[in-house]
Amino acid sequence: MSMLSWLEQNSGVRGGNFIAGEWREAGRSAVPIFNPARKDQRLGEFANSSAGEVDEAIEAAHRAWLSWRDVPGPERGVILFRAADILDNRAEAIAYALSAEQGKVLAESRGEVGRAAKELRFSAGEASRIDGDTLPSEKRNGFALTMREPIGVIAAIAPWNFPVVTPIRKIAPALAFGCSVVFKPSNLTPWAASLLMDVFKDAGVPAGVVNLVLGMGRTVGDAMIRHPLVRGVSFTGSTTTGATINEQAARRFVRTQLELGGKNPAVVLSASDLDAVARQIVGAAFACSGQRCTAISRVIVLESLADALVEALKAAVEAIRVGPAWDPQATMGPLITSAHCSSVTDALDRGLSEGGTVLCGGFRLREADFALGHYLAPTLIDGVQPGTHLARHELFGPVLSVIRVPTVREAFAVANDVEYGLAASIFTHDIDEALHFVRQSESGMVHVNHGTASEAHLPFGGIKGSGFGPFSIGHSNQEFFTTIKAVYLQS
Ligand code: NAD
Repeated sequence: MSMLSWLEQNSGVRGGNFIAGEWREAGRSAVPIFNPARKDQRLGEFANSSAGEVDEAIEAAHRAWLSWRDVPGPERGVILFRAADILDNRAEAIAYALSAEQGKVLAESRGEVGRAAKELRFSAGEASRIDGDTLPSEKRNGFALTMREPIGVIAAIAPWNFPVVTPIRKIAPALAFGCSVVFKPSNLTPWAASLLMDVFKDAGVPAGVVNLVLGMGRTVGDAMIRHPLVRGVSFTGSTTTGATINEQAARRFVRTQLELGGKNPAVVLSASDLDAVARQIVGAAFACSGQRCTAISRVIVLESLADALVEALKAAVEAIRVGPAWDPQATMGPLITSAHCSSVTDALDRGLSEGGTVLCGGFRLREADFALGHYLAPTLIDGVQPGTHLARHELFGPVLSVIRVPTVREAFAVANDVEYGLAASIFTHDIDEALHFVRQSESGMVHVNHGTASEAHLPFGGIKGSGFGPFSIGHSNQEFFTTIKAVYLQS
């Protein structure tokens, strides 16, 4: 079935909370969501929950956790492997809902669901790899060891840009390590999140182990963080919200795992095929319409290479086809809301007042069918000066700035001259330069000769204003979802 026919049959959904294994009514305060590519198309209504419903969900999660923590890890893993198979089987419908509410083109939504299934399988395996140490005891007939135990109820809070992979990245490891979860998606993207609850339910996750509470950050998110039974907060979103959450959590000594904003550089020092480099950079910059924490938003290039690279970048940006998710020719969708479009264009105006030359885009697309959605033209700006707004602030949209520098030393300094430290790329033939950058780059993830795409089994996270707490994905997750117990045995 095509996405449009699927939408015709499935729009008008009313989505409620999922608490203690049961679906609730959406309630009278439910709010509508709309298609970013067809801003008047109402996709459905979803619950706008109160703090009282959050309390219910957290209490259910706590009760369920008391049994779930005793289910042997490998058995929890079996359930999660089953969830991954179910996710694969429902991939097309979930991708349609994702594209409808978020706007990204179908190829990206399908890729996101596939990636989520991969991460789910990695986490399922982790349930059999929870480790501890055996240490020598001071006593002759003593044994000393450490074991890991799940910390309890996790508040999982996600943004709107990856409505499938981000929830899976939080829920799957939490369950693998024996925690239970109350999950709040963005109020802009509750639909795909709701479909994920049925994936876990149908895989056999016991009632209450995963719960969904829909609504606004200030009500639902805030109530989740303040609840005394919540022992960890896994949050993905803006740096400002992350800082507020961290302050609140710290008052109760609650752990946080924060994945925040980015201003990711691609440093270009040499290349045999500049077109290939440009394609890598443009792919990483404009996927998800640039609304990606790991999007490349700055190209820092040696002056000697700059003209040729800029020409190649311009050709690659001009090859982007903007359109709605269901258009098979489209390679970039709309932005999430009109307000977000305006925030990107305002930031562009402010940035351009400090200099820079727009080579492509720089405006909202309003002609013909574009007027039906929130579309921005993919934008490339040359001649951005280090230290300016465009060089340092996250726009979270389809905007790529080129900063020309005279030396390698300056390239590295400019790359680090931001409050963020998420992902960074370098393109060079010179292994010494590459290794130097790998060491010098103030980032959580560094890529040599490719864009900022991560893999499903490596730690994912940032430093500085881009992240706090153990990285998600990878074995590093164990540090967040479990706590150590030291055990002394005497025979
Ligand atoms: P946001 O911070 O506005 O919202 C994120 C989530 O937090 C939403 O579910 C929101 O409802 C909730 N929230 C808002 N205020 C809250 C509060 N006071 N207490 C508790 N919860 C609250 O972010 P957004 O606009 O949805 O997403 C865009 C941002 O997310 C960008 O800055 C982007 O870089 C970042 N992001 C980071 C990563 C990463 O892995 N580092 C991934 C995706 C997005």
